[in-house]
Amino acid sequence: MELFEDKGFRVKGTNLLIDPSTTKHSGAILTHAHSDHVNFNEKSKITASQETLDLINVSYKPVKKSNPLKFSKKTNFDNAKISLHNAGHILGSSQVLIEGEKTLAFTSDFKTQDSLILKKAEQLNSDILAIESTFGLPSFNFPHREKIYEDMVSWTKQQLALKRFIVLSGYSLGKAQELTKFCNDFLGISPVVHEKIFENNKVYEKHGVKLGTYYKLNHNLNDSNILIMPPSLAKPTLFYALEQSLGKKVSSALATGWFYRRGHDTVFPLSDHSDFNSSLDYIKNAEPKLVLTMHGFADEFARYIERRLKIPARALNGSSKKQKALIEFA
Ligand SMILES: [Zn+2]
Ligand SMILES: [Zn+2]
Repeated sequence: MELFEDKGFRVKGTNLLIDPSTTKHSGAILTHAHSDHVNFNEKSKITASQETLDLINVSYKPVKKSNPLKFSKKTNFDNAKISLHNAGHILGSSQVLIEGEKTLAFTSDFKTQDSLILKKAEQLNSDILAIESTFGLPSFNFPHREKIYEDMVSWTKQQLALKRFIVLSGYSLGKAQELTKFCNDFLGISPVVHEKIFENNKVYEKHGVKLGTYYKLNHNLNDSNILIMPPSLAKPTLFYALEQSLGKKVSSALATGWFYRRGHDTVFPLSDHSDFNSSLDYIKNAEPKLVLTMHGFADEFARYIERRLKIPARALNGSSKKQKALIEFA
């Protein structure tokens, strides 16, 4: 069984196509609803979790032909069986297990820690493991999530004591839902959220993920002291406008696995991707005979895997280039 990259991930000798980078195809498996993984046309038959399909339907054009697949349910595809398994990255995000003459597990974007709203990725076993290497360098190891929440609580409480207004920023699909839940559970505050975030929150709730209460941003802030915004809109011009209209100072925090602040007062290393050490642990437990790396630091991570785990590894062709808008999604 051979996995290769050609406008998406394909298995040689089959019609399997995962996360195509082109809209020109008749069918594909979509691992999750982040825009760098979602490409289709109205004739494409989309195999995905129901959660992923629902998230796609609120954010992109609706999927006309779909094949919703429950986690762990096997379905026949060409000469193989495929199944989807929780990837712990965002709602509905899936790893793909392909069982033919060999087994191949494809993690796509995944996270190996529980978050406030999602269970961690299921550990799969396979002969060949294709794993994301977004954080494939040893410098990308994050503190325990509980520790990050503690730091977030003390920072926000400090700002509130200083009578500041707080802008929390995180990607509108995934991170922003955890921030909504965080405000409710850890601070007892119902945040105001950007419209895009509001729509995604509703899909999470439809699938049983409780986020607490929150308000849609529409010209008033409902007396809340916290606003949650996508990173692309949480900019100094917004902070300035808020300061003018509220008559108080704004403090801003960005939630991301990347290190830099981009004009924010602080950064919380809250990532929806597996860090370096947890990815190595996942590989060890998967007991593969070959590892293929994709996204981010693919070449570097492959060398670390060979050196530290003594398992043959290489970057998938074309995968060493950074995935699109990586910073937004991480
Ligand atoms: Zn993603
Ligand atoms: Zn991605």
